[in-house]
Amino acid sequence: MSDAYHQLLSATIRHLTELRAQGVHYVPVSPVTLNALNGAAPTATHPAPQRTASLSSQPAPQKPALAPPPHPHAASLPPTPILVSETKPVRTKPGPVLEKSAAYAALRQRALACGRCTHLAASRKNVVLGAGNLNARLMFIGEAPGAHDDERGEPFADKPGQLLTKIIQTMGLTRDTVYITCIVKCRPDTPGEPDGSRKPTAAEIQTCLPFLQEQIDLIQPGVLVALGATATEGLLGKTAGITRLRGQWQSYRGIPLMPTYHPAYLLHNEVLSHKRLVWEDMLQVMTRLGMPVTEKQRGYFLKA
Ligand code: SF4
Repeated sequence: MSDAYHQLLSATIRHLTELRAQGVHYVPVSPVTLNALNGAAPTATHPAPQRTASLSSQPAPQKPALAPPPHPHAASLPPTPILVSETKPVRTKPGPVLEKSAAYAALRQRALACGRCTHLAASRKNVVLGAGNLNARLMFIGEAPGAHDDERGEPFADKPGQLLTKIIQTMGLTRDTVYITCIVKCRPDTPGEPDGSRKPTAAEIQTCLPFLQEQIDLIQPGVLVALGATATEGLLGKTAGITRLRGQWQSYRGIPLMPTYHPAYLLHNEVLSHKRLVWEDMLQVMTRLGMPVTEKQRGYFLKA
């Protein structure tokens, strides 16, 4: 590769390093520029200088993958952010500055030992903190763990979870590239009905909410999706009803939030028009994240 290329590369690294020192972790790059950069990148026989690798150990995404995460205000930026630092230091509250994975591990430890809701701590089998990619750009937030989730320690491990997986896959993603959690981390108890289920109470939601807020602050997704009325009301404090709120962009902790129906609702109401409404919400999410939407995807769940 030419000297000019290495001079340009060095200048770019200097600039990105300065930005990182100023607290900037992502910069927008247009697809045209990204393609040009990819075309100019050194080949395997001309490896990039080590300093490039120290900025990011991940390759630039070939398509708008949901990891890595965007700048906190990515929703207002052009798509295709590139990674400047994948191990962003995170200040826990209170606590030292930690790398993201270490901060998450500390959060997980606290959640697993949590007994703030004594009745839920006594009845649960597992604390279901969440699952997925810590660098996800998309976070789904459900209501509370069900019996299967409690058993396995995973959110959305049941039939509604299978439908959520299909929705994610229809968006062109996998569960590994998003983050899934619930507004309450322990299964709401049902004394005398071991297999029963109930909504979490307002008190339980308020007690557990700090865990979710910490997860959001740590992962910093570009978009939140609230699944169902309970999650939406718990986050927004609005009681307008999911039917009125779904499809309307909201904001939570400065992040765009899309309320939509819970997958369980779709299982109980297997109507094409309801599936279409959820899908239209997901199309909005994809557009907000700068993901490509094919004509085929646009046409899903429309009447034949
Ligand atoms: S629901 Fe949340 S706050 Fe309550 S015991 Fe479980 S982890 Fe703790």
